[in-house]
Amino acid sequence: MRFHVITLFPGLIEECVNTSIIGRARSKGLIDIYTTCLKDFSTNSYGSVDDYTYGGGAGMLIGCEPVYRAFEAASSNVPEGGEYKFIYTSPQGKTFDQRAAEALSGYEDLIFLCGHYEGVDERVLEELEAESYSIGDYVLTGGELPAAVMIDAIARLVPGVLHNGDSAEDESFNGGLLEYPQYTRPAVWKDREVPEVLLSGDHKKVEQYRHLKAVERTRERRPDMYEEYLRARGIW
Ligand code: SAM
Repeated sequence: MRFHVITLFPGLIEECVNTSIIGRARSKGLIDIYTTCLKDFSTNSYGSVDDYTYGGGAGMLIGCEPVYRAFEAASSNVPEGGEYKFIYTSPQGKTFDQRAAEALSGYEDLIFLCGHYEGVDERVLEELEAESYSIGDYVLTGGELPAAVMIDAIARLVPGVLHNGDSAEDESFNGGLLEYPQYTRPAVWKDREVPEVLLSGDHKKVEQYRHLKAVERTRERRPDMYEEYLRARGIW
C-alpha cells in the first residue's frame, strides 16, 4: 500500500512515520510513504503558496494552483489505472474512525493533502474530488498530525504490518466493543492482584471473562457504542 502526502512540512510527516511498527513496515517494503512538498509548486518568486481570502477575514488560504500541481506530481506515482482516494484532512470532514480506517485500507494508493493557515481554496478540493476527514472535533494548526494519525491507523491493518496477525482482530472497536482490561507480570503489584481466572489456564473461561469485561467497559465508557452493539444483536 502506498501513502502520498502533500504537505508544507515533509519533515514532520517523516518524523511521525519513521519509528516503531510503521517505520519497520516501511523498511520491509510492506508500505511506502512519499511526501510532496507544496512549496515546490509555488507559482511566485517568493515560494509562497498562500494568499488573502476573498471577502476579508483574518488568516491566509492555500491557493488552488500549487495544490493542483502538487497533486499532479504526487498522483504520477500511482500506477496507470490504479484506484486511489484523495483525502483532505479537515476539521469539517467526516469523522475518521476504525470503520473508515478499514474501508480506506482497501485502496492501493491514498493521497493526503495537509492544510495549513485557514485551509485550502474550496475550488481545488471540488476539482480534485477530495474527500475530507477529521480526526476529531477540535482545530489543529495543520493537517500533518491528522495525516500521520490516519496513516498509522490504516497501515497497521495492512497484512504483515503487525507481528501477530490476531492483534488487530482482538482490539477495541472490532466487534463493536472496547477491549477488555489486560495485565502482565508480576501477578501481584502494590497489593493489586491479576484476576484469578487469567491465571487458571482455562482458555474457555478466560474468553468468557474477557468478553464480559469488554461488554462492561463499553457500557461504562462508551454508551453510544454499547447501544449500537445491543441494536446489532436485536436487544435494544
Ligand atoms: N479554518 C479552518 C476551519 O475552521 O475549518 C481550520 C483550519 S486549521 C487552522 C488548518 C489545517 O489543519 C486544516 O486545513 C486541516 O488540514 C488541519 N486540521 C485542523 N484540525 C483538524 C482536524 N480536527 N482534523 C483534520 N485536520 C485538521
